Amino acid sequence: MSRFEDLARRRFFFAPAFELYGGCAGLFDYGPAGCAVKNNILTQWRQFFIVRENMLEVDCTTISPEMPLMASGHVGRFSDPMVRDAKTNEMIRADHLLENILNELPEGTERKKLENISGTRAKELEPVLRELNIPLARTSDNSKIICDDIGLMFSTDIGPVDGSKGYLRPELAQGIFLNFKRLLEYNQGRLPFAGAQIGRSYRNEIAPRQMLIRMREFTQAEIEYFYDPENGVHPKFASVAEQRIIIWSREDQENKKESRLISINDAVRNNIIAGEILGYFIARTASFLTMIGIPPQRLRFRQHLKKEMAHYARDCWDAEINCSFGWIECVGIANRSCYDLECHSKRSKLKARQVFEKPRKTCKVQHSINKAKLGAKLGDKTKSVIEWIEKLTIKEACAIIAKMTIAEPRGTLVLGPELCGESITLEPGILQIQIVEKMEHQREFYPHVVEPSFGIDRILYCLLENAYWIRPGSETRSVLSLQPVIAPVKCSILPISSGNSELDKLGLHLQEELATRGISSRVDASSQALGRRYARTDELGLPFAITMDFKTLEDKTITLRERDSMVQVRIPVNRVSDIIYNLSEAKTTWETVMISWPRFEN
Ligand code: AMP
Repeated sequence: MSRFEDLARRRFFFAPAFELYGGCAGLFDYGPAGCAVKNNILTQWRQFFIVRENMLEVDCTTISPEMPLMASGHVGRFSDPMVRDAKTNEMIRADHLLENILNELPEGTERKKLENISGTRAKELEPVLRELNIPLARTSDNSKIICDDIGLMFSTDIGPVDGSKGYLRPELAQGIFLNFKRLLEYNQGRLPFAGAQIGRSYRNEIAPRQMLIRMREFTQAEIEYFYDPENGVHPKFASVAEQRIIIWSREDQENKKESRLISINDAVRNNIIAGEILGYFIARTASFLTMIGIPPQRLRFRQHLKKEMAHYARDCWDAEINCSFGWIECVGIANRSCYDLECHSKRSKLKARQVFEKPRKTCKVQHSINKAKLGAKLGDKTKSVIEWIEKLTIKEACAIIAKMTIAEPRGTLVLGPELCGESITLEPGILQIQIVEKMEHQREFYPHVVEPSFGIDRILYCLLENAYWIRPGSETRSVLSLQPVIAPVKCSILPISSGNSELDKLGLHLQEELATRGISSRVDASSQALGRRYARTDELGLPFAITMDFKTLEDKTITLRERDSMVQVRIPVNRVSDIIYNLSEAKTTWETVMISWPRFEN
């Protein structure tokens, strides 16, 4: 166990759940310190995104009937490919197997083939693993290798007797999509707007590992920003345009180049990031993560390779934070186009409406089909050809009209093999197409969506690990340098000697005064040496310590110590709650406090 993990468990930030019964992989409990840090992250998140961006928060159920998850494609497709050896019954996640092999494989055609199949489904994976004769670890031949896509959702029954099938939600997004109409109405029919949700998600991960990094129950905070695809600007883009972030673009990954620092404006204008809205949320995500304490040089934004993206996604970036496990995806920021709203629209049209200030002249494709004749001609290909006709753009329709006009006899259309498998001639009268002009007063459309999805547990883990250090020359003294707004408790209150009733009384009085201002504190009146008590609070990440000594009783002053520098100043008791409040709420800085009050030296 690493020293950090030891601290996390000993100080009860988090620990394996059900440890008394041997534990259960992928499930963790948070203790008081962990809960406080997590709540502080979420408070900051709400403030930073929901309040400052006027987002509409929802709190949807974690249990879902099967139908919506069928419509969204989760049932059947929310799975990870797994490789199994039917002879030995060994199993491994396909991406882990490929990672292990690629780590040792030199450049060459084999490597290229394997790189190309990573991220694909079992069906595509199996033939390549067979062709390259790739065994599972410790297995000598690969003749019995089987690849399966293993579903990741936890299923359940809704209702005690003959219940209907249900699932624990694997993400928060669907709750927001299903409430789209209500949210649009709440927003008086106007776009753009964002729905947001914080809550638990459940995934039956094949290989839970690395503590809070891959869990089976975890907390997410998700935003769905709905906008008109004809208007991809973000009203506040200018406020982030000059912000510089580290990005690792698809092209740079493919060309084996390093990540680089670039302004959001340059990344969007040079089409590296697809559009202002995605750029805006990447910038805001960077600001949020650095504001809560992630060092900027430990944060990068990695663009998904084409094969990693869902077919409907237009662009996708992961905010990755560097920790002892390497670069870890902590936030996924994707442009999901209108995929989800369209999926659920089979039940009820989830569209938005734009009423024009002045009526607009528009062109439309109009067609008439003699279905009986078309069916007789095309047989089982009729449906797909009708779908093709219905989706024709103005440009495509114009090209077809042009062809039909010069055909002999006029009105004939030859459908190519790409459509029907062979060339089929439609005689005049089977299909007629024309372009008509119309005056329109409004339009209806599916809004597009940009989705930033934050994994709160991963962020918390990376934050704690990056805040962890050991005081030089003092091997046993570890420190968690958490920002005051994130620290689990804001200050400790330490009477210099135990059992002094006056100091104890003053300590409790100070605690009460701080509590009424919403500031948490921890009294440590034990008889241990002050140094050891400071060490304890440093390990918990408490940024400030108030020490009351015998002089306090004479002149009503205390010392205030800052955790990282260990510098102390002497301040009057009646100013302390004000100062701690301002420090904790980031309304003042320790530098300001230091120059305002006399330094205290032991
Ligand atoms: P996804 O929906 O897979 O893009 O996940 C969104 C975010 O949720 C990721 O960026 C992670 O931070 C977090 N996440 C996903 N799966 C897990 C997991 N098994 N354990 C902890 N966090 C997760």
